[in-house]
Amino acid sequence: MLPPADSLAPEWLVVPEDANDLASGVWPASAVRDADGVLEIAGVSAADLARTYGTPLLVLDEDEVRGRARAFRTAFDQAASDHGTTAQVYYAGKAFLSTTVARWVVDEGLRVDVCTGGELEVALAAGVSPESLGFHGNNKSTAELERAVIAGVGTIIVDSAIEIERLAAITARTGAVQRVLVRVISGVHAETHEFLATAHEDQKFGFPLAEAEVAVARIRELPGLDFAGLHCHIGSQIFGVAGFRESASRVLELHAALLDGGPVPLLNLGGGFGIAYTRVDDPTPIEVLAGEIVSAVAEGCAARGIPVPALSFEPGRAIVGTAGVTLYEVGTTKDVTVESGAVRRYVSVDGGMSDNARTALYGAQFSARLASRIGVGEPQLSRVVGKHCESGDIVVDHEYLPADLVPGDLLAVPATGAYCASLASNYNHVPRPPIVAVRDGRSRIIVRGETIDDLLARDAGIDGAHAPEGDR
Ligand SMILES: *Cc1c(COP(=O)(O)O)cnc(C)c1O
Repeated sequence: MLPPADSLAPEWLVVPEDANDLASGVWPASAVRDADGVLEIAGVSAADLARTYGTPLLVLDEDEVRGRARAFRTAFDQAASDHGTTAQVYYAGKAFLSTTVARWVVDEGLRVDVCTGGELEVALAAGVSPESLGFHGNNKSTAELERAVIAGVGTIIVDSAIEIERLAAITARTGAVQRVLVRVISGVHAETHEFLATAHEDQKFGFPLAEAEVAVARIRELPGLDFAGLHCHIGSQIFGVAGFRESASRVLELHAALLDGGPVPLLNLGGGFGIAYTRVDDPTPIEVLAGEIVSAVAEGCAARGIPVPALSFEPGRAIVGTAGVTLYEVGTTKDVTVESGAVRRYVSVDGGMSDNARTALYGAQFSARLASRIGVGEPQLSRVVGKHCESGDIVVDHEYLPADLVPGDLLAVPATGAYCASLASNYNHVPRPPIVAVRDGRSRIIVRGETIDDLLARDAGIDGAHAPEGDR
């Protein structure tokens, strides 16, 4: 018989032997507990971080980001050279973009992908060479495209027939020659261990394979556009190679056909490489994945008697996800008896869906640990919730936390480096938290937190009478 609370736990969540342990692969490699049991990241104590910067706080481990970036670059370089070609890795900035992080990844040999005018400005402000930028998006405005062309953005990934004409007009006006890729939808959609392959896709991105040839023909007749190849992105949080293999095979069919009309030097297979959010996630190591994906492409090319093109990849989550840990302070706890008589403990923290929307938005699973000390109580099934006026405001749906957790304790949620800060909102007028980088025992702000002043600053109904600086 399960104890009553455990009957509410999902099947995948096992009662931990020690509810203070840090599951390997889920936390940055530098995460340890110090002699007092306090969580430490890159040699910096979580308790000190909370005291210095307040909570909630997003902590980014610089060496973890750099290490992942390097691992991707090395893995794809190696795999590509094994098959007589080259590979470029673009960091997908939408996972999390600030000038500091852009500089880290560029420093490690990556390029950067942006998908709006705003992301483009951040990358340019970081000093990223425009030539090494990729620009995505299904609805890039004429103003955004013009800015990109004039700035000298290396590659624009064209998403629609209308965009081709917008670029034709801009390049005719400016005299620039813009390199473009054509985004296609292969009909393959992959997530974690599964992929779905269809002939038609009911979604907004790219050209169906059957329509891409016409688009490429149009680009080839425009003097201002330089057709470089195809682009395809099949999903996110993918663990295996099967989806990539199927998608590459479909796209290569078109790639080979296009060679009849001129050169097709490049193939970009997008991002979507998965990470571990909880201890049951088992992402394939990038060294293995890179080897298998590039082999699949090489086999597909050999079968069609065509040369292996230069390859590009666009990881986002897999570069920054595991590097991020969010620190919260516990405010209240509540034992809630559900229908079956089982009790679920709700642990309320001082942030929520405004700093991590993934749980509410995607039903994502995260894990959590008491960070300010070692808990001595039995593991108790808990749900970590935020402070927003919404019952769906859940940060960690199911986790075992020590029974002695009390208000004032610090809680750490790992794997929040990707798609948390970048999806953050001011829901309920909650200021967005600061972001701090840690490395070698030191911390520094890379994005400052919002203040009540920031929130009031945009309200045109207020004249001047703002709350004091820093008042939260
Ligand atoms: C979102 C996205 C990525 C990055 O996806 P991750 O899952 O973060 O690796 C790469 N390329 C394109 C076109 C995207 O839309």
